[in-house]
Amino acid sequence: SRPDQPHEFETLLESVRLMHCDNHAGEVASYIPELSKASPEHFGLAMATIGGKLYTAGDAEAPFTIQSISKAFTFCLALEVAGHSAVLARVGVEPSGDAFNAIFFNPATNRPYNPMVNAGAITIAGLLCEELGSGAFDFVMDRLSAAAGRRLTLDDAVYRSESETGHRNRAIAYLLLANGALTVSPDEALDLYYRQCSISVTASDLARMGATLANMGENPATGAEAFELRAVRNTQAVMFTCGMYDYAGHWAYDIGVPAKSGVAGGILGVVNRQLGIATYSPRLDVKGNSVRGIASFETLADELGLHAFDCT
Ligand code: GLU
Repeated sequence: SRPDQPHEFETLLESVRLMHCDNHAGEVASYIPELSKASPEHFGLAMATIGGKLYTAGDAEAPFTIQSISKAFTFCLALEVAGHSAVLARVGVEPSGDAFNAIFFNPATNRPYNPMVNAGAITIAGLLCEELGSGAFDFVMDRLSAAAGRRLTLDDAVYRSESETGHRNRAIAYLLLANGALTVSPDEALDLYYRQCSISVTASDLARMGATLANMGENPATGAEAFELRAVRNTQAVMFTCGMYDYAGHWAYDIGVPAKSGVAGGILGVVNRQLGIATYSPRLDVKGNSVRGIASFETLADELGLHAFDCT
């Protein structure tokens, strides 16, 4: 039978941790020098319910940078701030099957395929700057903090490392400018993008942020309104189709919940109207997803029947 008691959730998370902690496959990301300092053995799991409960195992309080998981949240915020049609005029919602840092645009529109690849996320960052000016990062930080239920902070060292070494992202931003997808300066959009990627979170934070999405934008533990209802629906849809880099199709097939991963080793999954689930383990596979994170979600999806199209 499936767990439904609080202690059974804790026991399940701990057994998933034990099942996968001896998996040492994958490599810690090193293309941003500061990320390579992560401790490869860290392994944390957390699950937050829309009833406001949190269950954890392992290093659920170890800090790491949110990285690309921020892309789901900034997309959600842009839909609210700029409006749905303005967002969709700048970025598509089609899975591209490309790697996160691909320099490809949809040839039919000259726009990024979706907001979960860097090109799309930098476009969204530009749109937030256009709407909110110099207050854009504080706005993002406030809303992500509301979703997490605590004041989040910026990891300055990662932020500096990102901006110093992000030559490929700069190239993408200039192409976006040339295509008319950016109306602010590339530097302004990139600065917001590097900052949003460098927000420090824990697996517990991410699980709570996921529970806020699952709970239609309201933080279930604090009652704070973090996101707009309709934007939450559209964000989960894009996470479902595009959230796991060029593994998104396989993930939807096997695990079947909206999710987003980041190169620091976090994965966030959302079970709509039920749970936020997060894993943290920094060793990544070749597609940039956490090896133990994927394995843990596979086990949890089986144990809890998470797949959106499960019939049992
Ligand atoms: N800071 C990263 C970059 O754009 C985010 C990558 C990721 O998490 O996929 O290079």
